[in-house]
Amino acid sequence: MNDNNGNKYRNKKERKGGVKYADLHVHTVFSDGTFTPEETVRVAREKGLSCIAICDHDCVDGIGPSIEYSKKNPIEIIPGVELTVMKDRKEIHMLGYFISWKEEWFNEILKRIQAERISRIDKMIEKLKRFNIEVHPDRVLSMAGGKGSVGRLHLAQTLLEIKAVSSIQMAFDKYIGDFKPCYVGDISFSPKEAIELILKAKGVPVLAHPCTMRDDSLIQEFVKYGMRGIEIFHTDHSLSVSKKYEKIAKEYGLLVTGGSDCHGLGKGRVLLGSVRVPYSVVERLKEEANGNQQT
Ligand code: AMP
Ligand code: ZN
Ligand code: FE
Ligand code: FE
Repeated sequence: MNDNNGNKYRNKKERKGGVKYADLHVHTVFSDGTFTPEETVRVAREKGLSCIAICDHDCVDGIGPSIEYSKKNPIEIIPGVELTVMKDRKEIHMLGYFISWKEEWFNEILKRIQAERISRIDKMIEKLKRFNIEVHPDRVLSMAGGKGSVGRLHLAQTLLEIKAVSSIQMAFDKYIGDFKPCYVGDISFSPKEAIELILKAKGVPVLAHPCTMRDDSLIQEFVKYGMRGIEIFHTDHSLSVSKKYEKIAKEYGLLVTGGSDCHGLGKGRVLLGSVRVPYSVVERLKEEANGNQQT
């Protein structure tokens, strides 16, 4: 049973509002979102959500402050991460839910990726020079607030600030989007490494926004490595796209999840809660994560 927003319900009770909802894909200032953990929790509560998953790019530093703040402003926080994966020069995102985010070895790996992200920005800045665009790396870093993961959205925001582009979207379409002339992809893991890393951290690996992957045949390969779910509901997915991935998930026995991919005001509109799933999805993820704890 679906409504016009693409929300999926198992029965009438869910549709009528007798259930709790979760947004399972949220960014904070610890990657390229503009909301602090405090703002994220506050807005999520305003939107009537019972649960959010903090899924910053290659970073878990926003989880602790979110949990801390949620103690006084009750909302359930799922510790998550969105790992950058590279396959045949294509950037793919892998979500990890219920990861052991405090593990030192895990944090050390993420710190290395975060350092590589800074060098990657320098490389993209170098490529932009070919288009007579001069960007100061420090400006991009300060756009990122000097913490967590710096990324392409920060570079796009800087390009807008210096008026090299007239919109964030134009920065991606013309220069730094996937396969565009100034894109550099050398951060990240192979799909196998990312999935194994999430599993080692006792998390549940879920493919983020599969529509951007543009190659559904890879799903079978990822399942082989241990991927356990697909994010079928996402801001960039139409209802027919969600249905397509729901069918694929069923075929492989995968969990289905959904989230808004909110970046605060980073992409204009606040998306938090605009894509949400019934709490039963969280319960299924928990069962899966508990299975991992026992192995
Ligand atoms: P990064 O982790 O540095 O590769 O940046 C990934 C982020 O850039 C995504 O989460 C989006 O926020 C943004 N992004 C990537 N491609 C596009 C695009 N074509 N249009 C708009 N935003 C994009
Ligand atoms: Zn992002
Ligand atoms: Fe993503
Ligand atoms: Fe995301």
